Amino acid sequence: MYSYDRRTAKVRFIRRRFKDYEPEFWEALVEEILNRMPSPLRRVNLQIELRAGAGGKGKDLGEHFVHGNKHIIHVVPGHSMKGTASTIAHELGHALHHVLGLKRSGKNEAGEFGWFWREQKNGPEVWYDYDKTPWNKRPWEQFAMRYEKHGIAAFEHLKSEGLVPESRSESHRKQVDLEMYGEAAPTMEELADLPPAKVREIFEYWQAKRKGLDP
Ligand SMILES: [Zn+2]
Repeated sequence: MYSYDRRTAKVRFIRRRFKDYEPEFWEALVEEILNRMPSPLRRVNLQIELRAGAGGKGKDLGEHFVHGNKHIIHVVPGHSMKGTASTIAHELGHALHHVLGLKRSGKNEAGEFGWFWREQKNGPEVWYDYDKTPWNKRPWEQFAMRYEKHGIAAFEHLKSEGLVPESRSESHRKQVDLEMYGEAAPTMEELADLPPAKVREIFEYWQAKRKGLDP
């Protein structure tokens, strides 16, 4: 876990619970993503917390909230690094719409509680019932999704420069694989670039192997 404070342009660790990658890698990744995000975000006091754990489900791998003058982003790095980079960028998208004042909570004319959203600064507001608007229909989610590509681009850039290390758990698992089976299952990163059918095939191969069956 660390905090990224743009006002001092420094990455500061507040807790080091997530040690799968070196802190320097996370710093470089966040820096690369922020460099691709719209400039209003660069003046914001950001704290990004990487939370090791079981991981959320579906799109629920990150959250953004504001505490005082600080924007806090929680990310569960439970999937591929490319996915995590995309999640960080998505949550930064939420920080951005907050900075731009695009969303606020309030009641509509009928007195029902919900969210007002404007697509751009000073644009007209539209009211949304929070509970009745499915996740993918929420305009602020669509807004945040537009920025996910910056996370992926930042990741791809670091990868092309050879700056994406293997995680400690992946290295360890590979070593165990090699000792037990004489070969190692591909990492999440290696699988991320393959078509789903191929991933399934590899998964089934390793599932059988680990059960002691002849794959
Ligand atoms: Zn979101």
